[in-house]
Amino acid sequence: MVLDAAGEPLRAAKIGRPRAGPGQVLVGVRACGVCRTDLHVVDGELSEPKLPLVPGHQIAGVVEAVGDGVLDVAPGDRVGVPWLGWTCGECRYCLAGRENLCDRARFTGYQLDGGFAEHAVADARFAFPLPAGYPDLQVAPLLCAGLIGYRSLRLAGDAERLGLYGFGAAAHIVIQVARWQGRRVFAFTKADDEAAQRFARELGAEWAGDALGPAPEELDAAILFAPVGELVPAALGVVAKGGTVVCAGIHMSDLPSFPYALLWGERCVRSVANLTRRDGEEFLALAPRVPVRTEVEAYPLEQANEVLERLRAGRVRGAAVLVVGDGP
Ligand SMILES: [Zn+2]
Ligand SMILES: [Zn+2]
Repeated sequence: MVLDAAGEPLRAAKIGRPRAGPGQVLVGVRACGVCRTDLHVVDGELSEPKLPLVPGHQIAGVVEAVGDGVLDVAPGDRVGVPWLGWTCGECRYCLAGRENLCDRARFTGYQLDGGFAEHAVADARFAFPLPAGYPDLQVAPLLCAGLIGYRSLRLAGDAERLGLYGFGAAAHIVIQVARWQGRRVFAFTKADDEAAQRFARELGAEWAGDALGPAPEELDAAILFAPVGELVPAALGVVAKGGTVVCAGIHMSDLPSFPYALLWGERCVRSVANLTRRDGEEFLALAPRVPVRTEVEAYPLEQANEVLERLRAGRVRGAAVLVVGDGP
């Protein structure tokens, strides 16, 4: 499924099978998660995609071939390919263990062709071994919703009372980790989104309700998955002194101005950008211990456009995943 230009639907196309170059692996894609970031790419809110582009950055598949110099991945290995697809290894961020901020980073399904296809090529260093016990369909959403959610949770700090704004793919994973860690979780959604509120309660939220209405009590941190700028002052108004508001998405509508009093008291607003390989290793080891169970809606690859529309309308329960071929 190919994006030719921002704002256009994806086009089903026959393209040549890519080849694994030096340091790369050729992955036979089994399943690929659909993320809100894919929507931002297709809509042109992320403005520098390669074109034409195969989107998709939550790839679960099997290695079919390896390029020169690849030693620790072999054909037949099951791997997952995430959003972070390549880093330079030599800029000040890479050298400081902050490769998520690499000046020259390249991203899967954005600057590199991704997983809305039967095959994908990936840098072997960024192809994670996948935990056993997870079918392809269930493991795919761990690769972005899970990873970015996990990094967001880490950056939320030592919060006992955690608010999750927007209850989609990432939140439904983060809540399971947060509950397992013994935190109390509160879910903030659109006022009338009773399906999402019910889903959040089923997964252990002790309260779920309107993101712009009154909260039941103070929070120690909030993670914003919904890309809506007005939620920043709303969340700041709910977190206690010293609390953090983490903006987890790659794109967000403009933040409205707000009184300094909302930030006063050492409250903090921060974004989360991308992931590091260390996040991937940590989270993919943690997920089976919780154990995180992903709830997925599966669709054939050819329905990518319909799935993006479902996501846009907020109608996906849990995570949406495209299945390639006969599927897992
Ligand atoms: Zn994503
Ligand atoms: Zn770098």
